[in-house]
Amino acid sequence: MRTSVYMEELDAFSYREAIAGGHRPVIIPVGSIEQHGPHLPLNVDVLLSRAVSGEVAGQVRGIVAPPITYGYKSQQRSGGGNHLAGTTSLDGGTLIEIARTLVHEFARHGVSRLVFLNGHFENYQFLYEGVDLALRDLERAGAAVPTVMLLSYWDFVDEPTIEALYPEGFPGWDVEHGGVLETSLMLHLHPHLVDMAAASDDPPAVLPPYDVLPVKADRTPPSGCLSPAGAATAEKGRILLDAVREAMVPALTAELGLAVPAPAGTR
Ligand code: ZN
Ligand code: MN
Repeated sequence: MRTSVYMEELDAFSYREAIAGGHRPVIIPVGSIEQHGPHLPLNVDVLLSRAVSGEVAGQVRGIVAPPITYGYKSQQRSGGGNHLAGTTSLDGGTLIEIARTLVHEFARHGVSRLVFLNGHFENYQFLYEGVDLALRDLERAGAAVPTVMLLSYWDFVDEPTIEALYPEGFPGWDVEHGGVLETSLMLHLHPHLVDMAAASDDPPAVLPPYDVLPVKADRTPPSGCLSPAGAATAEKGRILLDAVREAMVPALTAELGLAVPAPAGTR
């Protein structure tokens, strides 16, 4: 039997064996293809949601499904805006249907515990809707209804960590786009994909508390980043990843009724 925490690396027989009984949670990372300034690649949200999923799966005997690569449209106040070339997004209805379809697919496999682990701010409500519709479909069909958890990884960074990592003040997760959080995690996990020399140190973007369409492009900072990344380090990335894993594992364990996490190396 082939073993990997990543579903797509398993052969179908090993996968079936891994999910037999339906107890092991399947974690679906959800990202986006979105500009993240001059210093980060377009797939930051995919890489980070997948990496966090892998970390957590290692502790809860989870299986990480292939990520949803594209996300909902980048918003000017949280991702710079969808008018920027490079950013490549799905219509809301499409993302809803992808989430809905995947719940049906994993339910068909017999998976009873599913997690959408989000890495792109704008995705959340569309995933929620897709899950809700899928559960309604299954309930009406009299089929087994899985327990599905939705979460965005930054919501698991606790206050003391925020205070330690943002001594100048925390700008808020919405404008943490290409800033300290994502850049530090990338420096820790995928350093060869980060070009710190190109990072913009523009101050945090000041945007009005509303949207106007069509988008007024000049309101997005030229870098495309909404907060500066200059203070990012690989060490902060490690601290952030540890904080997220430490908080997320007990949440999954409790909500999905999992056995207490296995010690590292025993999965
Ligand atoms: Zn991002
Ligand atoms: Mn994003």
